[in-house]
Amino acid sequence: MLPEDKFCPSCAAPLEPKEVAGRQRPVCPKCGRVVYYDPKVAAASIIEREGKVLMVKRAIEPGYGLWSIPGGYVDRGEVVEEAAVREVWEETGLKVEIQHMVGLFSEHGHPVVVAVFAAREVGGDLKAGVETLDLGFFSPDGLPDLAFPRDGQMLARWQEMQALQGSPDAG
Ligand SMILES: [Zn+2]
Repeated sequence: MLPEDKFCPSCAAPLEPKEVAGRQRPVCPKCGRVVYYDPKVAAASIIEREGKVLMVKRAIEPGYGLWSIPGGYVDRGEVVEEAAVREVWEETGLKVEIQHMVGLFSEHGHPVVVAVFAAREVGGDLKAGVETLDLGFFSPDGLPDLAFPRDGQMLARWQEMQALQGSPDAG
């Protein structure tokens, strides 16, 4: 259980792990409430310049000092595409617009679901934000050390879509 889930959200009694319908979940022994974990949604953007993609070197955990596609968590009530655009602006100083979705990425046992978009620059100036140590454009075949291995899968999917479109500048 996560530290923040030590107590029942309904009656504040200490939670206990218990099997519910075949899975271990935190259960309140006092009022019977079962705590279910929701996934977290993140949005990331792939921004291309001449065949290279924009990557950011993270100044925050997880993955401090490692590189990722620009992105972050979607706030509750926020439109996912707007979160993707906002994160690019905060992390890289670039204004972008969403072109199309690349995919929705999730994996067994992982709390974060990532919506990945292809986006194109429409303005701004490239500069590292407060959550970014450095940034740069990299060939998908020569990426720096990744904070999240899934970024490699996202870029591979993006490359497949680019190839299907027939031109890196299409769309
Ligand atoms: Zn309770």
